[in-house]
Amino acid sequence: MDDEAPAPRPHRLSPSAWNRYETCPRMHWLSRQRLPRKAGMAASLGTAVHASIEDLLNLDLDSKSPDERGWLVKAADACLKARWEEEKAVFLSTPRRPAWSEKKWPDAVKQQRNGITMLLDHIGQRQHPHDEVTVGLWRRLQAQTLAVEGELVTNDGRLMGRLDLLLADVDEQGRTTGWLVADLKTGRPPKASLKPEVNRQLRMYRDILLANNPEAPPVRTEGWYTQSTGKHAAEGPSVLEEAYAAWQATQPTEVPLEPTPGPDSCGGFCDWKAWCSHWWWWRHESGTLHREDFADTVVLLHELDPSTGAAVLEPCEPLDASGRAIPTGQHVAARFDGRGLEVVQTLLSEGHQGPMFLGSVMMNRQVWRIGPWCDVLPWSPVSA
Ligand code: SF4
Repeated sequence: MDDEAPAPRPHRLSPSAWNRYETCPRMHWLSRQRLPRKAGMAASLGTAVHASIEDLLNLDLDSKSPDERGWLVKAADACLKARWEEEKAVFLSTPRRPAWSEKKWPDAVKQQRNGITMLLDHIGQRQHPHDEVTVGLWRRLQAQTLAVEGELVTNDGRLMGRLDLLLADVDEQGRTTGWLVADLKTGRPPKASLKPEVNRQLRMYRDILLANNPEAPPVRTEGWYTQSTGKHAAEGPSVLEEAYAAWQATQPTEVPLEPTPGPDSCGGFCDWKAWCSHWWWWRHESGTLHREDFADTVVLLHELDPSTGAAVLEPCEPLDASGRAIPTGQHVAARFDGRGLEVVQTLLSEGHQGPMFLGSVMMNRQVWRIGPWCDVLPWSPVSA
């Protein structure tokens, strides 16, 4: 029997890890520490829509007649429903999550249909009603689909990305004239051009593909926004040199990487605040702690009525950048509800004592509200 420990996975950089590193090196470092993952409705909806579109492109239509119509909408519904249920199961088994929202189903259907419209657009059939799409037409689209949902990795294993769709661009004679890397986006479409980080992500896919396929025809890349059916091209020089520099800088370390707290990092999207003291110290020092309608806080829980969620909290202040919590002596009325109440009760039943991190508390009212969307976690900042 081979009792050698498996070799550690070599360090790889993805566009999202690169973006996290650029936003805040500490955020990137924390994201690698196997801390509890956070599930979100937007991400689950996105995964279900992506997977259902990929399933449609992979459908085996051999048993169908080329003239058959009316099959696509049924197949689209079946694929989406199956993926939706799959995502729901993953979501509900994730402890760190809000409530599942079945109300988002119509949005998922709309985004999937828009994705189909964008695929039809690629073969010059944008206006084609979905219930009129023949098996023959869909096969034409499948024939132009070179790859669906694949991992792109440079030959040296250092840079990676997840490719949604690789489609052939063809001329009127059906000859391949180029490749299109299409990345499906279920988030908000840009008003004009792509955000710089999205542009860079798409160019990284393009550049890895080109590096691995030196004989490739011209490669272009687009973000396909399923909320609007807008296609946005990413253009510009190769990003590989910068990506390798970022790979070097993001090598795993025992010592936490430097934080860069501020409005553009902590003020935006960071899932790791319960393990980072720096947002708290920055808010405290800049006088912006608890100043927004939805704000993060560190508190002691003094009372909780499990039947109503009514609670008494004592907000804390940081002693210094280490994040040591100092009780302020003030008492604030609060109410936990939905997932917020479930999670705080779980924490208490597990014997939690001491400060708690509460993320995105609704504070623009006399009684703070810790609702289903809030993070409720033990306060345990890493010491650095
Ligand atoms: S809370 Fe702010 S400083 Fe801390 S990891 Fe997140 S972005 Fe960086």
